[in-house]
Amino acid sequence: MAGRKLAAEKGIKTNGMKEMTQKSNQPETKTASAAAMIVCPECGKETDKTVKNVCPDCFGKRLNLFDLPEVLHARICQRCGAHYYKSKWEDMGTPEEVAMLTAESHLAIPDGIENITVGMHPYARSPYIFDVLVDVEGEVDGVKYYKDAKTEVRIKREACEMCSRRAGGYFEGIIQIRANNRIPTKEEVTECLKLVEESMTAQLKKGDKLAFVTDTMTFKDGADVYIGSSKAGKHVCKHIIEVMGGTVAESYTLAGMKDGKDIYRTTFAMKLPEFKKGDVVYFEDKVIEIKNCGKRVTGINLMNSSNFFIDGEHFKGAKLLGNTADAKETVLVSVEEHGIQILDPETFETVTIQKPMSFNALPGSEIKVFKTEYGIFAL
Ligand SMILES: [Zn+2]
Ligand SMILES: [Zn+2]
Repeated sequence: MAGRKLAAEKGIKTNGMKEMTQKSNQPETKTASAAAMIVCPECGKETDKTVKNVCPDCFGKRLNLFDLPEVLHARICQRCGAHYYKSKWEDMGTPEEVAMLTAESHLAIPDGIENITVGMHPYARSPYIFDVLVDVEGEVDGVKYYKDAKTEVRIKREACEMCSRRAGGYFEGIIQIRANNRIPTKEEVTECLKLVEESMTAQLKKGDKLAFVTDTMTFKDGADVYIGSSKAGKHVCKHIIEVMGGTVAESYTLAGMKDGKDIYRTTFAMKLPEFKKGDVVYFEDKVIEIKNCGKRVTGINLMNSSNFFIDGEHFKGAKLLGNTADAKETVLVSVEEHGIQILDPETFETVTIQKPMSFNALPGSEIKVFKTEYGIFAL
């Protein structure tokens, strides 16, 4: 079990400092007592050292080095582990640490004791009842005294304020997941919800206790995610845009009053980009297969197999021709230096089309082609 020494934390004088105080404040007593034996007025014993005018033993009998209640109570949240400390719910570590902290905060050491060292040793009697052995060592007039005692810390499990709110369906914001000019696919919605979870967990770890999802509703055209913290909502949307692209617009609605203040809820209207991976679009006289449509749009120009990239902001007015998922299989008739001959998948006429950059299919085999009003392209 972990013990702990608290001397340094409590700002108690160190050895070096204490020696200095003694030398400057009480040099006479020391010299005098060293020179002659004194009779203790309490027990009559001869002593060469006195503490507050009696012998060290007699003083030790009067001295109470610390007070500590026999039983102490602590509260922790059974959902998130937060500890109720100094009228606030705070993250305080393990129940064992909570037990030590509780004992420490009830430990009363009288004034006038120097060089205090405190040791704490918790022993678990059950997961939520700890015996904490406390030992204190301190000095009075240069004489060391020691005391130990045991306290029982009973930890009560309950729900903290934040976890109660969560259980009560509290929410500060709604993230609306939609797509620009289209309906997002089921996969996209699933991916977005995964990113929401990821980002919320990160915010919770950073200390935003309201970073939780209260409720999720999915519809034909997307999903609505009810979230506990609108601050976390901002991070969530940023994270989704980083990964999937798109935009977000925030708006606020008055949701009521609390303690005389207006309470607002934030709506994050997210729009996934108009085009997704595999979409084939016509843009500025090019036919482009989209690879990624985020802040930066990347793809392949199917007309000459070159790479295509452009800043998302400038990718305006593209026309959707279809998706490579709808490509058709057709027979490769022959392969020439710059072109290939295939059967048109609709008319079955032999046509010559552009040969893709790296192309190694053999005549007679089936290849995937995509037919558009701008020509047929081998994928
Ligand atoms: Zn005495
Ligand atoms: Zn909690």
